[in-house]
Amino acid sequence: MRIGLVAHDDCKGALLEWCAWNKPVLARHELFATGTTGSIIEAETHLSVTRLLSGPKGGDQQIGAMIATQKLDALFFFWDPESPQPHDPDVKALLRLATLWNVPYACNTATADMIISSPLFEGDYEPLKPDFDPRTVEVVDGEVVITDSRDQE
Ligand code: PGA
Repeated sequence: MRIGLVAHDDCKGALLEWCAWNKPVLARHELFATGTTGSIIEAETHLSVTRLLSGPKGGDQQIGAMIATQKLDALFFFWDPESPQPHDPDVKALLRLATLWNVPYACNTATADMIISSPLFEGDYEPLKPDFDPRTVEVVDGEVVITDSRDQE
C-alpha cells in the first residue's frame, strides 16, 4: 500500500507515537509524508519515508494530487481541531479528495488503529472508484450540448 502521513504541529507527537507503535506494519508499505512530518518520522522511527513539500508550502496538495491520480491507497492525516491553520483551504481540499476518491483515511489515533488493524489493510482490497464523468459533450448544429446521464435515471 502507498500510505500518506500528515500531521499538524500539535498532532505530530500523536502521529509519531502511532507510527512507532505500528512500525513493523508500516515498514511493509510505501510511505509518503509532508515535509516536517516526514522528517520527524524518519528521524525517530528510521522508517523510510518519501518526503514531499511541507504542508503549508504545497505538501497537502501534493498528497491530494496523489489521491486524485490513484497513487495513494490510505491516508493518516492528524489535523488539528483546535487551531486554525494558515493553509486551511488545503486541509479542506485534501479531506475532500480523500472522501471523493473513496480513499480510507484516519484523522485520529482510534480510527488509525481501526484501519491499520483491519484484515483489509494488507489484503487485495480495491475500493470502488466512482464514475466521475457521467457527462457527454457534443456539438449539435454548432451548439455545445452537454448531457448528464444521471439526469436520465
Ligand atoms: P508538515 O505539514 O508535515 O510539513 O508540518 C503538515 C501540514 O501542516 O499539512
